[in-house]
Amino acid sequence: MDADRKITQYYLQHTDGWLVSQLEACTRCGICAEACPFYLGTGNAVHTPIRKVEPLRRAVQDNFTAFGWLRSLFDKQSVSATEMSDWVSEAYFTCTVCNRCSLACPMGIDLGALIQLTREGLAAAGMVPRSLADAVRRQKVTGSPLGVTRTLFENRLEWLREEEGVDIPLDVPGADSLVAFTSIELIKFPDNLAAMAKVMNAAGESWTLSSTGRESVNFATFSGDTDEQVEFVRRVTDAALELGVKRIILTECGHAYDTVRRIASRLYGLPLPFAVENVLETIVRFLREGRLHLRSDAFAGQRITFHDACKLQRLGGLIEQPREILRTVAPSTFVEMTPNREAQWCCGGGGGVLASPEADEIRMKAFLPKVEQLERISPDAVVTACSTCRLQFLDGSKYYDMDIDVRGITEVVAAALETDTPKGA
Ligand code: SF4
Ligand code: SF4
Repeated sequence: MDADRKITQYYLQHTDGWLVSQLEACTRCGICAEACPFYLGTGNAVHTPIRKVEPLRRAVQDNFTAFGWLRSLFDKQSVSATEMSDWVSEAYFTCTVCNRCSLACPMGIDLGALIQLTREGLAAAGMVPRSLADAVRRQKVTGSPLGVTRTLFENRLEWLREEEGVDIPLDVPGADSLVAFTSIELIKFPDNLAAMAKVMNAAGESWTLSSTGRESVNFATFSGDTDEQVEFVRRVTDAALELGVKRIILTECGHAYDTVRRIASRLYGLPLPFAVENVLETIVRFLREGRLHLRSDAFAGQRITFHDACKLQRLGGLIEQPREILRTVAPSTFVEMTPNREAQWCCGGGGGVLASPEADEIRMKAFLPKVEQLERISPDAVVTACSTCRLQFLDGSKYYDMDIDVRGITEVVAAALETDTPKGA
């Protein structure tokens, strides 16, 4: 079957009243365009959000409307190769599925959900861009999209234990918390692992890592491969069940928090015997329970700001937790970017865009709204709770020659730990 027919078939299988009404409700007002960093960064109308769901819109229109029926009488041409490559490019390279456009749409159209469904149809037809498809394959085979095998993982932990002198427990049955990292942290930000271990140990938490459920990252979320997406979540939840933990703690990753929470809850058909928590919630819990003591002068003299990650703050609602943490370590020098919280500008790196070299040029353009936000407040450091955002800020600040420190929030907390506090006191 041709790719375009496979795509259409997928969309038709997933068409319901909700989808038709969402597509029908669009008035072509263009308001969503102004909300999109890819449109704003390029000024090119080709990148307006509603255009990214074109294959979906076309399938529904052709099969469920009188206009489509009429058109089919005269126009039986299949999709051209140019059109197909345009669909792939728009869905994967010019969208982070940040949902800022959904928030802006006066008709309440959930563009993020429609774009994700568009990707799923492209994936079902084998149209996922090579870089993403390779990463999904690697995750399937090795357990990690960046190729962090079990041996590499264990070696890295051993190295960190020696280098940092921290206790990092692995595969401990009966621990209270299972911590699952992301490949980016394992490869690019190993200091985050050490920082997390220091925070957990300082709070006196009973915790462990798992060699089988070691990564929460899920590249199938980016590609739209729905079966693999479930399989990758199951690796983490199976490990949690096997170890008998009370909670899974997900570290600095936006899409992992969104994907694990969304999928884990319906995996076994039963209420889960564990909770799913993000590291921001964990740190705030420790602070409120008096188990962590942080220095308020850790950022003395440094103006710091926080970048809200789309999946953690706009979609996940973890809005006040990072602010509570940063006001503790930098009570007088924490400054907000504007807009912030759920209205913040996406950094332009998430949703698999950063993992696609084809998108490198436009990814930097999509960072422009962020550059303008930062320039308005001139901070010394920007803190994020998502490793993809952190990488994008590192790339973006280098590209635009900005002198700014980019840090993960767990590292910030670890650096501010009171050294003479008794464990978990
Ligand atoms: S803002 Fe909503 S109604 Fe307006 S063009 Fe975008 S999707 Fe359509
Ligand atoms: S989800 Fe974000 S990146 Fe994608 S079209 Fe909407 S505003 Fe643009």
